[in-house]
Amino acid sequence: MTTHSSNHPSVDAHVLARFYINGQWVSPAVPASLGVINPATEQEVAQVARGTAEDVDRAVAAAREAFPGWAACAPAERARVLGKIHTLILERKEELAQALCLEMGAAIGFARAMQVPLAAEHVRVARDLLADYRFQTLEGSTAIEREPIGVCGLITPWNWPLYQITAKVAPAIAAGCTVVLKPSELSPLSALLFAQLVHDAGLPPGVFNLVNGSGHEVGAAMAAHADIDMISITGSNRAGALVAQAAAPTVKRVTQELGGKSPNVLLPDADFAKAVPLGVMSAFRNVGQSCSAPTRMIVPRSRLAEVEALAAATANGIVVGNPQSEDTVLGPIANQAQFERVQSMIEAGIAEGAKRVCGGPGRVPGFDKGFYARPTVFSEVASSMRIAQEEIFGPVLCIIAYDSLDEAVAIANDTVYGLGAHVQGQDIQLARAVASRIRAGQVHLNHPAWDPMAPFGGYKRSGNGREYGVQGFEEYLETKAIVGFGA
Ligand code: NAD
Repeated sequence: MTTHSSNHPSVDAHVLARFYINGQWVSPAVPASLGVINPATEQEVAQVARGTAEDVDRAVAAAREAFPGWAACAPAERARVLGKIHTLILERKEELAQALCLEMGAAIGFARAMQVPLAAEHVRVARDLLADYRFQTLEGSTAIEREPIGVCGLITPWNWPLYQITAKVAPAIAAGCTVVLKPSELSPLSALLFAQLVHDAGLPPGVFNLVNGSGHEVGAAMAAHADIDMISITGSNRAGALVAQAAAPTVKRVTQELGGKSPNVLLPDADFAKAVPLGVMSAFRNVGQSCSAPTRMIVPRSRLAEVEALAAATANGIVVGNPQSEDTVLGPIANQAQFERVQSMIEAGIAEGAKRVCGGPGRVPGFDKGFYARPTVFSEVASSMRIAQEEIFGPVLCIIAYDSLDEAVAIANDTVYGLGAHVQGQDIQLARAVASRIRAGQVHLNHPAWDPMAPFGGYKRSGNGREYGVQGFEEYLETKAIVGFGA
Protein backbone atom coordinates (compact mmCIF):
# COMPACT_ATOMS: atom_id res chain seq x y z
CA MET A 1 0.00 0.00 0.00
CA THR A 2 1.20 3.45 -0.78
CA THR A 3 1.24 6.63 1.17
CA HIS A 4 1.22 9.97 -0.58
CA SER A 5 1.86 13.65 -0.08
CA SER A 6 -0.93 16.15 0.43
CA ASN A 7 -2.37 18.13 -2.44
CA HIS A 8 -3.31 21.73 -2.22
CA PRO A 9 -7.00 22.43 -2.46
CA SER A 10 -8.28 24.09 -5.57
CA VAL A 11 -9.84 26.83 -3.46
CA ASP A 12 -8.28 30.31 -3.88
CA ALA A 13 -6.42 31.73 -0.89
CA HIS A 14 -8.70 34.77 -1.18
CA VAL A 15 -11.78 32.58 -0.68
CA LEU A 16 -10.27 30.44 2.10
CA ALA A 17 -9.76 33.55 4.22
CA ARG A 18 -13.28 34.87 3.74
CA PHE A 19 -17.01 34.28 4.16
CA TYR A 20 -19.63 34.69 1.48
CA ILE A 21 -22.06 37.36 2.66
CA ASN A 22 -24.45 39.47 0.59
CA GLY A 23 -22.94 38.34 -2.70
CA GLN A 24 -19.37 39.18 -1.70
CA TRP A 25 -16.32 37.52 -0.20
CA VAL A 26 -15.74 39.32 3.11
CA SER A 27 -13.11 39.00 5.83
CA PRO A 28 -14.15 37.79 9.29
CA ALA A 29 -15.07 40.52 11.79
CA VAL A 30 -12.33 39.21 14.08
CA PRO A 31 -9.36 37.68 12.23
CA ALA A 32 -9.08 33.99 13.09
CA SER A 33 -8.66 30.74 11.20
CA LEU A 34 -8.98 27.01 11.59
CA GLY A 35 -6.89 24.28 10.01
CA VAL A 36 -8.18 21.63 7.64
CA ILE A 37 -6.50 18.24 8.04
CA ASN A 38 -6.19 15.68 5.26
CA PRO A 39 -7.10 12.42 7.06
CA ALA A 40 -4.97 10.39 4.65
CA THR A 41 -1.76 12.15 5.68
CA GLU A 42 -2.73 13.83 8.98
CA GLN A 43 -1.25 17.02 7.55
CA GLU A 44 -2.85 20.43 7.46
CA VAL A 45 -3.79 21.29 3.89
CA ALA A 46 -5.51 24.64 4.35
CA GLN A 47 -6.57 27.30 6.81
CA VAL A 48 -10.06 28.73 6.53
CA ALA A 49 -11.54 31.81 8.18
CA ARG A 50 -13.21 31.10 11.50
CA GLY A 51 -16.32 33.11 12.30
CA THR A 52 -17.95 34.53 15.39
CA ALA A 53 -21.43 35.74 16.34
CA GLU A 54 -20.62 39.06 14.67
CA ASP A 55 -20.19 37.36 11.29
CA VAL A 56 -23.46 35.51 11.85
CA ASP A 57 -25.18 38.88 12.49
CA ARG A 58 -23.87 40.23 9.19
CA ALA A 59 -24.94 37.14 7.26
CA VAL A 60 -28.40 37.09 8.86
CA ALA A 61 -28.89 40.80 8.11
CA ALA A 62 -28.06 40.15 4.45
CA ALA A 63 -30.40 37.17 4.31
CA ARG A 64 -33.19 39.17 5.99
CA GLU A 65 -32.85 42.02 3.53
CA ALA A 66 -32.87 39.68 0.54
CA PHE A 67 -35.87 37.69 1.79
CA PRO A 68 -38.84 39.76 0.52
CA GLY A 69 -37.44 40.01 -3.00
CA TRP A 70 -36.52 36.34 -3.28
CA ALA A 71 -39.82 35.20 -1.72
CA ALA A 72 -41.70 37.28 -4.28
CA CYS A 73 -39.62 36.00 -7.18
CA ALA A 74 -41.56 33.78 -9.61
CA PRO A 75 -40.99 30.04 -9.09
CA ALA A 76 -39.83 29.78 -12.70
CA GLU A 77 -37.05 32.27 -12.00
CA ARG A 78 -36.00 30.39 -8.87
CA ALA A 79 -35.98 27.20 -10.96
CA ARG A 80 -33.82 28.89 -13.57
CA VAL A 81 -31.11 29.75 -11.03
CA LEU A 82 -31.28 26.27 -9.49
CA GLY A 83 -30.84 24.85 -12.98
CA LYS A 84 -27.71 26.94 -13.38
CA ILE A 85 -26.36 25.74 -10.01
CA HIS A 86 -27.04 22.14 -11.10
CA THR A 87 -25.16 22.67 -14.36
CA LEU A 88 -22.20 24.23 -12.56
CA ILE A 89 -21.95 21.36 -10.05
CA LEU A 90 -21.74 18.92 -12.94
CA GLU A 91 -19.24 21.12 -14.81
CA ARG A 92 -17.03 21.40 -11.73
CA LYS A 93 -17.52 17.84 -10.50
CA GLU A 94 -13.85 16.93 -10.63
CA GLU A 95 -12.82 19.94 -8.56
CA LEU A 96 -15.54 19.15 -6.03
CA ALA A 97 -14.59 15.46 -5.89
CA GLN A 98 -10.94 16.39 -5.28
CA ALA A 99 -11.93 18.73 -2.44
CA LEU A 100 -14.02 15.97 -0.80
CA CYS A 101 -11.12 13.55 -1.14
CA LEU A 102 -8.80 16.03 0.53
CA GLU A 103 -11.03 17.28 3.34
CA MET A 104 -12.63 14.03 4.50
CA GLY A 105 -10.77 11.24 2.75
CA ALA A 106 -13.55 10.20 0.37
CA ALA A 107 -12.13 7.66 -2.08
CA ILE A 108 -11.87 9.57 -5.33
CA GLY A 109 -13.93 7.04 -7.28
CA PHE A 110 -16.65 7.21 -4.63
CA ALA A 111 -16.57 11.01 -4.58
CA ARG A 112 -16.93 11.09 -8.37
CA ALA A 113 -19.60 8.40 -8.59
CA MET A 114 -21.64 9.15 -5.47
CA GLN A 115 -20.82 12.17 -3.30
CA VAL A 116 -20.92 14.72 -6.12
CA PRO A 117 -23.63 13.36 -8.45
CA LEU A 118 -26.03 12.64 -5.60
CA ALA A 119 -25.44 16.18 -4.30
CA ALA A 120 -26.35 17.50 -7.75
CA GLU A 121 -29.54 15.43 -7.66
CA HIS A 122 -30.93 17.39 -4.72
CA VAL A 123 -30.59 20.56 -6.79
CA ARG A 124 -32.22 18.98 -9.83
CA VAL A 125 -35.11 17.69 -7.72
CA ALA A 126 -35.69 21.15 -6.17
CA ARG A 127 -35.61 22.75 -9.61
CA ASP A 128 -38.04 20.21 -11.10
CA LEU A 129 -40.46 20.44 -8.18
CA LEU A 130 -41.02 24.10 -8.94
CA ALA A 131 -42.46 23.28 -12.36
CA ASP A 132 -45.75 22.07 -10.93
CA TYR A 133 -45.79 22.61 -7.17
CA ARG A 134 -49.08 24.25 -6.16
CA PHE A 135 -48.35 27.02 -3.69
CA GLN A 136 -52.08 27.69 -3.37
CA THR A 137 -54.87 25.16 -3.13
CA LEU A 138 -58.55 25.45 -2.19
CA GLU A 139 -60.28 23.38 0.51
CA GLY A 140 -63.95 24.35 0.13
CA SER A 141 -63.96 28.14 0.26
CA THR A 142 -60.66 28.35 2.19
CA ALA A 143 -57.47 29.03 0.29
CA ILE A 144 -54.40 27.28 1.66
CA GLU A 145 -51.24 29.10 0.76
CA ARG A 146 -47.73 27.77 1.24
CA GLU A 147 -45.21 30.56 1.77
CA PRO A 148 -41.47 30.51 2.45
CA ILE A 149 -40.77 30.43 6.18
CA GLY A 150 -38.10 33.14 6.03
CA VAL A 151 -34.41 33.16 6.89
CA CYS A 152 -33.03 29.66 7.41
CA GLY A 153 -29.88 28.67 9.29
CA LEU A 154 -28.43 25.49 7.82
CA ILE A 155 -25.85 23.47 9.79
CA THR A 156 -24.17 20.51 8.11
CA PRO A 157 -21.81 17.64 9.05
CA TRP A 158 -18.58 16.33 7.52
CA ASN A 159 -19.54 12.86 6.35
CA TRP A 160 -21.35 13.72 3.11
CA PRO A 161 -20.32 17.37 3.06
CA LEU A 162 -21.59 18.59 -0.29
CA TYR A 163 -24.59 16.27 -0.35
CA GLN A 164 -25.83 17.52 3.03
CA ILE A 165 -25.40 21.11 1.88
CA THR A 166 -27.44 20.71 -1.31
CA ALA A 167 -30.08 18.67 0.55
CA LYS A 168 -30.80 21.82 2.57
CA VAL A 169 -29.81 24.79 0.40
CA ALA A 170 -31.64 23.63 -2.75
CA PRO A 171 -35.12 23.12 -1.25
CA ALA A 172 -34.76 26.21 0.96
CA ILE A 173 -34.02 28.57 -1.90
CA ALA A 174 -36.53 26.78 -4.15
CA ALA A 175 -39.16 27.54 -1.49
CA GLY A 176 -38.24 31.24 -1.56
CA CYS A 177 -36.27 31.27 1.69
CA THR A 178 -32.90 32.92 2.14
CA VAL A 179 -30.16 31.06 3.95
CA VAL A 180 -27.07 31.21 6.13
CA LEU A 181 -25.00 28.04 5.81
CA LYS A 182 -22.50 26.84 8.37
CA PRO A 183 -20.67 23.84 6.96
CA SER A 184 -18.77 21.45 9.20
CA GLU A 185 -15.52 23.02 10.37
CA LEU A 186 -13.89 19.68 9.48
CA SER A 187 -14.85 19.77 5.80
CA PRO A 188 -15.19 23.40 4.66
CA LEU A 189 -13.43 23.18 1.28
CA SER A 190 -16.19 21.70 -0.89
CA ALA A 191 -18.55 24.19 0.78
CA LEU A 192 -16.41 27.12 -0.36
CA LEU A 193 -16.37 25.73 -3.91
CA PHE A 194 -20.15 25.43 -3.68
CA ALA A 195 -20.44 29.09 -2.59
CA GLN A 196 -18.33 30.10 -5.59
CA LEU A 197 -20.58 28.28 -8.00
CA VAL A 198 -23.74 29.66 -6.38
CA HIS A 199 -22.26 33.11 -6.95
CA ASP A 200 -21.42 32.26 -10.56
CA ALA A 201 -24.97 30.97 -11.08
CA GLY A 202 -26.21 34.51 -10.47
CA LEU A 203 -28.24 34.02 -7.29
CA PRO A 204 -29.17 37.52 -6.05
CA PRO A 205 -26.96 38.87 -3.21
CA GLY A 206 -28.04 37.83 0.28
CA VAL A 207 -30.09 34.80 -0.77
CA PHE A 208 -27.22 32.43 0.07
CA ASN A 209 -24.60 33.27 2.71
CA LEU A 210 -21.84 31.14 4.17
CA VAL A 211 -20.01 31.54 7.48
CA ASN A 212 -17.38 28.97 8.47
CA GLY A 213 -16.57 28.23 12.08
CA SER A 214 -17.14 25.94 15.01
CA GLY A 215 -20.46 24.62 16.23
CA HIS A 216 -20.21 26.21 19.65
CA GLU A 217 -19.46 29.67 18.20
CA VAL A 218 -21.11 30.06 14.80
CA GLY A 219 -23.65 27.22 15.05
CA ALA A 220 -24.82 28.23 18.50
CA ALA A 221 -25.12 31.90 17.47
CA MET A 222 -27.31 30.84 14.55
CA ALA A 223 -29.51 28.60 16.69
CA ALA A 224 -30.17 31.42 19.16
CA HIS A 225 -30.50 34.20 16.57
CA ALA A 226 -33.71 36.20 16.89
CA ASP A 227 -33.82 36.94 13.17
CA ILE A 228 -33.49 33.35 11.95
CA ASP A 229 -36.89 31.68 11.42
CA MET A 230 -35.78 28.09 11.05
CA ILE A 231 -32.74 25.94 11.71
CA SER A 232 -32.07 22.70 9.89
CA ILE A 233 -29.20 20.70 11.36
CA THR A 234 -27.69 17.41 10.32
CA GLY A 235 -25.24 16.06 12.84
CA SER A 236 -24.90 14.23 16.11
CA ASN A 237 -27.67 13.91 18.69
CA ARG A 238 -25.58 16.03 21.03
CA ALA A 239 -25.47 18.97 18.59
CA GLY A 240 -29.10 18.47 17.53
CA ALA A 241 -30.30 18.72 21.13
CA LEU A 242 -28.12 21.76 21.85
CA VAL A 243 -29.50 23.51 18.77
CA ALA A 244 -33.09 22.78 19.82
CA GLN A 245 -32.38 24.17 23.31
CA ALA A 246 -30.75 27.32 21.97
CA ALA A 247 -33.57 27.80 19.46
CA ALA A 248 -36.40 27.38 21.99
CA PRO A 249 -36.59 30.95 23.35
CA THR A 250 -37.16 32.35 19.86
CA VAL A 251 -39.66 29.58 18.97
CA LYS A 252 -38.08 28.94 15.59
CA ARG A 253 -38.77 25.82 13.61
CA VAL A 254 -36.04 23.21 14.14
CA THR A 255 -35.55 20.21 11.90
CA GLN A 256 -32.94 17.66 12.89
CA GLU A 257 -31.36 14.82 10.95
CA LEU A 258 -29.37 12.99 13.60
CA GLY A 259 -27.86 9.63 14.32
CA GLY A 260 -28.86 6.11 13.38
CA LYS A 261 -28.26 2.44 14.09
CA SER A 262 -30.13 0.96 11.18
CA PRO A 263 -31.14 -2.71 11.10
CA ASN A 264 -30.86 -4.99 8.08
CA VAL A 265 -33.24 -7.93 8.53
CA LEU A 266 -32.45 -10.97 6.40
CA LEU A 267 -35.61 -13.06 6.19
CA PRO A 268 -35.17 -16.85 5.90
CA ASP A 269 -36.02 -16.80 2.18
CA ALA A 270 -33.46 -14.07 1.31
CA ASP A 271 -30.81 -14.84 -1.28
CA PHE A 272 -27.95 -14.91 1.23
CA ALA A 273 -25.18 -15.14 -1.36
CA LYS A 274 -26.29 -11.74 -2.63
CA ALA A 275 -27.82 -10.13 0.44
CA VAL A 276 -24.86 -10.59 2.78
CA PRO A 277 -22.18 -9.00 0.51
CA LEU A 278 -24.58 -6.18 -0.40
CA GLY A 279 -25.39 -5.67 3.28
CA VAL A 280 -21.70 -5.49 4.22
CA MET A 281 -20.89 -3.05 1.42
CA SER A 282 -23.88 -0.94 2.28
CA ALA A 283 -22.85 -0.79 5.96
CA PHE A 284 -19.28 0.13 5.02
CA ARG A 285 -20.12 2.63 2.26
CA ASN A 286 -18.33 5.93 2.87
CA VAL A 287 -16.21 4.05 5.45
CA GLY A 288 -19.35 3.45 7.50
CA GLN A 289 -19.75 7.17 8.03
CA SER A 290 -23.38 7.40 6.97
CA CYS A 291 -26.17 8.09 9.41
CA SER A 292 -28.42 5.49 7.78
CA ALA A 293 -25.74 2.78 7.35
CA PRO A 294 -27.32 -0.65 8.05
CA THR A 295 -24.85 -1.62 10.77
CA ARG A 296 -26.95 -4.30 12.47
CA MET A 297 -27.39 -7.38 10.28
CA ILE A 298 -30.19 -9.44 11.82
CA VAL A 299 -30.12 -13.02 10.55
CA PRO A 300 -31.76 -16.42 11.24
CA ARG A 301 -29.69 -18.27 13.85
CA SER A 302 -29.59 -21.38 11.66
CA ARG A 303 -27.75 -19.40 8.96
CA LEU A 304 -25.23 -17.69 11.25
CA ALA A 305 -22.13 -19.64 10.12
CA GLU A 306 -22.95 -19.07 6.45
CA VAL A 307 -23.52 -15.33 7.04
CA GLU A 308 -20.24 -15.01 8.95
CA ALA A 309 -18.28 -16.65 6.13
CA LEU A 310 -19.90 -14.49 3.45
CA ALA A 311 -19.43 -11.30 5.52
CA ALA A 312 -15.76 -12.06 6.25
CA ALA A 313 -15.02 -12.82 2.60
CA THR A 314 -16.61 -9.54 1.56
CA ALA A 315 -14.96 -7.40 4.25
CA ASN A 316 -11.53 -8.96 3.69
CA GLY A 317 -11.80 -8.24 -0.04
CA ILE A 318 -12.34 -4.49 0.37
CA VAL A 319 -9.45 -2.32 -0.84
CA VAL A 320 -8.70 0.21 1.90
CA GLY A 321 -6.06 2.81 1.15
CA ASN A 322 -4.98 6.05 -0.43
CA PRO A 323 -8.22 7.86 -1.31
CA GLN A 324 -6.60 9.41 -4.36
CA SER A 325 -6.09 6.02 -5.95
CA GLU A 326 -8.75 4.92 -8.44
CA ASP A 327 -8.74 1.36 -7.01
CA THR A 328 -9.50 2.39 -3.45
CA VAL A 329 -12.94 1.48 -2.17
CA LEU A 330 -12.56 2.86 1.36
CA GLY A 331 -10.25 5.73 2.27
CA PRO A 332 -9.40 6.74 5.82
CA ILE A 333 -11.87 7.71 8.54
CA ALA A 334 -12.53 11.43 8.05
CA ASN A 335 -10.82 12.79 11.16
CA GLN A 336 -8.84 11.83 14.22
CA ALA A 337 -11.64 12.12 16.77
CA GLN A 338 -13.81 9.80 14.69
CA PHE A 339 -10.94 7.33 14.19
CA GLU A 340 -10.43 7.19 17.96
CA ARG A 341 -14.14 6.71 18.52
CA VAL A 342 -14.20 3.77 16.09
CA GLN A 343 -11.16 2.22 17.80
CA SER A 344 -12.77 2.50 21.22
CA MET A 345 -15.98 0.89 19.96
CA ILE A 346 -14.05 -2.02 18.40
CA GLU A 347 -12.34 -2.49 21.79
CA ALA A 348 -15.75 -2.33 23.48
CA GLY A 349 -17.07 -5.09 21.20
CA ILE A 350 -14.13 -7.32 22.10
CA ALA A 351 -14.46 -6.53 25.81
CA GLU A 352 -18.19 -7.32 25.77
CA GLY A 353 -17.51 -10.75 24.31
CA ALA A 354 -18.74 -10.38 20.74
CA LYS A 355 -17.15 -12.83 18.29
CA ARG A 356 -14.67 -11.08 16.00
CA VAL A 357 -15.18 -12.46 12.50
CA CYS A 358 -12.66 -10.18 10.80
CA GLY A 359 -10.83 -6.88 11.29
CA GLY A 360 -10.15 -5.48 14.73
CA PRO A 361 -8.42 -2.57 16.40
CA GLY A 362 -5.53 -0.58 15.00
CA ARG A 363 -4.65 0.83 11.61
CA VAL A 364 -4.84 -1.13 8.40
CA PRO A 365 -1.49 -2.95 8.09
CA GLY A 366 0.99 -1.02 5.96
CA PHE A 367 -0.06 2.42 7.17
CA ASP A 368 1.68 4.27 9.94
CA LYS A 369 -0.06 7.55 9.08
CA GLY A 370 -3.62 8.29 8.11
CA PHE A 371 -6.83 7.31 9.89
CA TYR A 372 -7.20 3.94 8.19
CA ALA A 373 -9.53 1.68 10.19
CA ARG A 374 -9.82 -2.06 9.52
CA PRO A 375 -13.19 -3.24 8.17
CA THR A 376 -14.49 -5.16 11.16
CA VAL A 377 -17.32 -7.67 11.53
CA PHE A 378 -18.61 -8.90 14.87
CA SER A 379 -20.98 -11.85 15.24
CA GLU A 380 -22.92 -13.35 18.15
CA VAL A 381 -23.68 -9.78 19.13
CA ALA A 382 -26.36 -9.32 21.79
CA SER A 383 -28.72 -6.45 21.14
CA SER A 384 -27.89 -5.03 24.57
CA MET A 385 -24.18 -4.63 23.79
CA ARG A 386 -22.80 -1.11 23.26
CA ILE A 387 -21.73 -1.99 19.71
CA ALA A 388 -25.37 -2.86 18.93
CA GLN A 389 -26.81 0.21 20.64
CA GLU A 390 -24.43 3.12 19.95
CA GLU A 391 -23.73 4.70 16.62
CA ILE A 392 -20.12 3.83 15.70
CA PHE A 393 -19.82 5.72 12.39
CA GLY A 394 -17.06 3.56 10.98
CA PRO A 395 -16.60 0.25 9.12
CA VAL A 396 -17.93 -1.96 11.90
CA LEU A 397 -20.80 -4.41 11.36
CA CYS A 398 -22.72 -6.31 14.04
CA ILE A 399 -24.37 -9.62 13.17
CA ILE A 400 -27.24 -10.49 15.51
CA ALA A 401 -29.09 -13.81 15.39
CA TYR A 402 -32.87 -14.31 15.70
CA ASP A 403 -35.03 -17.39 16.29
CA SER A 404 -38.42 -16.09 15.13
CA LEU A 405 -39.79 -13.32 12.94
CA ASP A 406 -41.22 -11.54 15.97
CA GLU A 407 -37.81 -11.60 17.58
CA ALA A 408 -36.21 -10.19 14.39
CA VAL A 409 -38.65 -7.27 14.43
CA ALA A 410 -38.12 -6.72 18.16
CA ILE A 411 -34.33 -6.58 17.65
CA ALA A 412 -34.73 -4.20 14.69
CA ASN A 413 -36.77 -1.88 16.91
CA ASP A 414 -34.52 -2.28 19.96
CA THR A 415 -32.82 1.08 19.47
CA VAL A 416 -33.29 4.71 20.43
CA TYR A 417 -32.86 5.55 16.74
CA GLY A 418 -35.21 5.18 13.80
CA LEU A 419 -33.60 6.52 10.65
CA GLY A 420 -33.08 3.78 8.09
CA ALA A 421 -33.83 0.06 7.89
CA HIS A 422 -33.43 -2.73 5.35
CA VAL A 423 -35.38 -5.92 4.78
CA GLN A 424 -34.21 -8.71 2.45
CA GLY A 425 -36.48 -11.50 1.31
CA GLN A 426 -37.89 -13.03 -1.86
CA ASP A 427 -41.51 -13.11 -0.67
CA ILE A 428 -42.27 -9.44 -1.23
CA GLN A 429 -45.54 -9.60 0.74
CA LEU A 430 -43.66 -10.78 3.79
CA ALA A 431 -40.89 -8.21 3.29
CA ARG A 432 -43.52 -5.44 3.10
CA ALA A 433 -45.24 -6.71 6.24
CA VAL A 434 -41.95 -6.68 8.14
CA ALA A 435 -41.15 -3.17 6.79
CA SER A 436 -44.44 -1.89 8.16
CA ARG A 437 -43.49 -3.15 11.65
CA ILE A 438 -40.14 -1.36 11.77
CA ARG A 439 -40.13 2.07 13.44
CA ALA A 440 -37.89 3.99 11.03
CA GLY A 441 -38.25 6.83 8.56
CA GLN A 442 -37.01 4.95 5.52
CA VAL A 443 -37.12 1.19 4.91
CA HIS A 444 -35.34 -0.33 1.90
CA LEU A 445 -36.55 -3.62 0.44
CA ASN A 446 -33.91 -5.76 -1.32
CA HIS A 447 -31.39 -2.94 -1.88
CA PRO A 448 -33.33 -0.74 -4.30
CA ALA A 449 -31.75 2.13 -6.24
CA TRP A 450 -31.39 5.43 -4.38
CA ASP A 451 -34.55 7.53 -4.72
CA PRO A 452 -34.05 11.28 -4.28
CA MET A 453 -37.83 11.74 -4.02
CA ALA A 454 -38.19 9.37 -1.05
CA PRO A 455 -38.55 11.44 2.14
CA PHE A 456 -35.63 10.88 4.48
CA GLY A 457 -35.58 11.46 8.23
CA GLY A 458 -35.93 9.89 11.58
CA TYR A 459 -38.37 8.38 14.02
CA LYS A 460 -37.45 8.60 17.70
CA ARG A 461 -34.03 10.14 18.46
CA SER A 462 -32.97 10.18 14.83
CA GLY A 463 -34.57 13.57 14.54
CA ASN A 464 -37.57 15.62 13.50
CA GLY A 465 -38.65 16.55 10.02
CA ARG A 466 -37.87 15.12 6.61
CA GLU A 467 -35.46 15.94 3.80
CA TYR A 468 -35.54 15.20 0.04
CA GLY A 469 -38.39 15.32 -2.41
CA VAL A 470 -41.68 17.10 -1.83
CA GLN A 471 -41.74 16.59 1.93
CA GLY A 472 -38.21 17.91 2.33
CA PHE A 473 -39.15 20.99 0.30
CA GLU A 474 -42.29 21.59 2.36
CA GLU A 475 -40.25 21.82 5.59
CA TYR A 476 -39.20 25.27 4.36
CA LEU A 477 -42.80 26.47 3.90
CA GLU A 478 -45.29 28.09 6.25
CA THR A 479 -49.02 27.44 5.86
CA LYS A 480 -51.54 30.25 5.63
CA ALA A 481 -55.28 29.60 5.46
CA ILE A 482 -57.34 32.41 3.94
CA VAL A 483 -60.82 31.62 5.17
CA GLY A 484 -63.67 33.02 3.09
CA PHE A 485 -61.37 33.21 0.06
CA GLY A 486 -63.87 31.59 -2.28
CA ALA A 487 -67.03 33.07 -0.77
P1 NAD B 1 -21.57 17.16 14.85
O1 NAD B 1 -22.81 17.14 15.62
O2 NAD B 1 -20.29 17.18 15.56
O3 NAD B 1 -21.54 18.41 13.88
C1 NAD B 1 -22.58 18.65 12.94
C2 NAD B 1 -22.67 20.14 12.71
O4 NAD B 1 -23.21 20.74 13.90
C3 NAD B 1 -21.31 20.82 12.48
O5 NAD B 1 -21.45 21.83 11.51
C4 NAD B 1 -20.99 21.39 13.85
O6 NAD B 1 -20.13 22.48 13.79
C5 NAD B 1 -22.37 21.79 14.33
N1 NAD B 1 -22.49 21.92 15.77
C6 NAD B 1 -21.83 21.24 16.74
N2 NAD B 1 -22.19 21.67 17.95
C7 NAD B 1 -23.09 22.67 17.77
C8 NAD B 1 -23.82 23.52 18.64
N3 NAD B 1 -23.69 23.45 19.96
N4 NAD B 1 -24.67 24.41 18.10
C9 NAD B 1 -24.83 24.49 16.76
N5 NAD B 1 -24.14 23.74 15.88
C10 NAD B 1 -23.29 22.83 16.38
O7 NAD B 1 -21.71 15.92 13.88
P2 NAD B 1 -20.64 15.38 12.85
O8 NAD B 1 -19.63 14.64 13.67
O9 NAD B 1 -20.21 16.47 11.94
O10 NAD B 1 -21.51 14.37 12.00
C11 NAD B 1 -21.73 13.05 12.39
C12 NAD B 1 -23.11 12.90 12.95
O11 NAD B 1 -24.07 13.38 12.02
C13 NAD B 1 -23.47 11.46 13.18
O12 NAD B 1 -24.12 11.33 14.42
C14 NAD B 1 -24.44 11.14 12.07
O13 NAD B 1 -25.35 10.12 12.31
C15 NAD B 1 -25.11 12.44 11.86
N6 NAD B 1 -25.65 12.51 10.52
C16 NAD B 1 -27.00 12.42 10.35
C17 NAD B 1 -27.52 12.45 9.08
C18 NAD B 1 -29.00 12.36 8.85
O14 NAD B 1 -29.44 12.73 7.78
N7 NAD B 1 -29.77 11.91 9.82
C19 NAD B 1 -26.69 12.59 7.99
C20 NAD B 1 -25.33 12.68 8.21
C21 NAD B 1 -24.82 12.65 9.48
